[in-house]
Amino acid sequence: MSEAVQHGRCLCGAVTVSGRLGQDMSACFCTMCTRWSGTVQMGIDAPADTVVVNGPVKTYRSSPFSERAWCDTCGSALWLRDDGGDYEFVPGLFENAGGGRLTRIVYADRKPGGWDFADVPVRITAAEYEKKHPFIPEGEMP
Ligand SMILES: [Zn+2]
Ligand SMILES: [Zn+2]
Repeated sequence: MSEAVQHGRCLCGAVTVSGRLGQDMSACFCTMCTRWSGTVQMGIDAPADTVVVNGPVKTYRSSPFSERAWCDTCGSALWLRDDGGDYEFVPGLFENAGGGRLTRIVYADRKPGGWDFADVPVRITAAEYEKKHPFIPEGEMP
């Protein structure tokens, strides 16, 4: 865990964010993340008590326990967050993705062909993930 607070911003600069980022990035290929991000959602954690956000943020309640946020001016994705949990920032808000390294793929068995990610050590299938975490079955998505 890096100790320094890092500063990031959306594409247009209207939203600025800061927080103490972790060093591990995760990628998720679940159906919601795929739809929201375009293909793969990547995230880098920051504890909520280190996070400061300014600007025109909009949020979407993507499940009963989580929200996804974006800049209302340029549409840049900002974060995914479970209620009361850490922020999972979009790494691209930060210079050099906050210095993070991709170490984990969730819903790894759902990734489309051509995405190698050969050097990512942790691969978690949909079934493994859903055994331990809350999720929304595809037919019940908002
Ligand atoms: Zn913006
Ligand atoms: Zn996901």
